[in-house]
Amino acid sequence: SDRLVEVRDVSVVFHKKALFKKTRSVEAVKSVSFGIDRGETLGLVGESGSGKSTTGRAVLKLVPVASGDITVGGQNLTDLNGRALRKARRRMQMVFQDPYSSLDPSATVAASISEPLMVHDHVSARAARARALELIELVGLRASHADRYPYEFSGGQRQRIAIARAIALNPDFIVCDEAVSALDVSTQNQVINLLERLRTEFDLAYLFIAHDLAIVRHISHRVAVMYLGRIVESGPAERVYNEPAHPYTQALLSAIPNPSPHRRADRRIVLAGEVPDPARPPSGCPFRTRCAFAMDICAERMPEHTAINGGGEVACHLQTSGPELSGAPLGDLT
Ligand code: SF4
Ligand code: MG
Repeated sequence: SDRLVEVRDVSVVFHKKALFKKTRSVEAVKSVSFGIDRGETLGLVGESGSGKSTTGRAVLKLVPVASGDITVGGQNLTDLNGRALRKARRRMQMVFQDPYSSLDPSATVAASISEPLMVHDHVSARAARARALELIELVGLRASHADRYPYEFSGGQRQRIAIARAIALNPDFIVCDEAVSALDVSTQNQVINLLERLRTEFDLAYLFIAHDLAIVRHISHRVAVMYLGRIVESGPAERVYNEPAHPYTQALLSAIPNPSPHRRADRRIVLAGEVPDPARPPSGCPFRTRCAFAMDICAERMPEHTAINGGGEVACHLQTSGPELSGAPLGDLT
């Protein structure tokens, strides 16, 4: 394997200032570790507030990293700043849920896609435009529409334009943060097919962030599930979908109708309640306030990451000290 991205023990702390109150420190990402190979897609899943987007931004060092190490393409980004960081970031891009956050609504599509080429590659306006037209066709749009404005396109087309802009500088790695979440299902599939085609054509690696396991399923080689700032389970997509080990993963999967024909269909876990306030996480296992299998030890100790059969890791006391998961009572927290 050809490791492109290596994230080791990364934590991100936000300091929130409130008027007349003490500054609160919130650890949004806690000791997160994962790797992504060249040409590979890692799906990162969890409810909103789980720290997925912050993790994605941290890999690109778009938020301050409190501790840990991030290596991309053999270069350690941890201590890079200013110009050196900007140079390293050229090989990394981000595609957001809302294309308007990367596309200037007052610029034509050709201008939006040409801009990074002129700014970073110092190519002439003419050469940048020629390249922009190629990119527009590469993502499945018409070059004859190059001088239209973002509002003249559909949501799916705008996301194609954002993708064209993201690949303009030949990146190795793209963080897709809920890149298809706002689209209807058939448009989602089209954009995912486009991302797949570009991945194989350019050997791109993706960190594909979504709150929904169903969306990441067909694009991810491996999947990591986040809860309250931590990765609670990770592994090959097949294994995570067919044999989810963490009660949270099981709950997320049971919300998907017919997630897998091979999976045991009998278990249905209702995920009740809200994600706890990240500023006041529960003691021990972060999921214990919503877990139907919680035991005494879950309030006392943080479960360690343990390797599991079929690949990957899970952080749950059931793996080490609890009853056999398949024999546990049917979870229902309602
Ligand atoms: Fe549930 Fe305990 Fe496992 Fe946490 S460690 S997921 S509370 S069984
Ligand atoms: Mg988010």
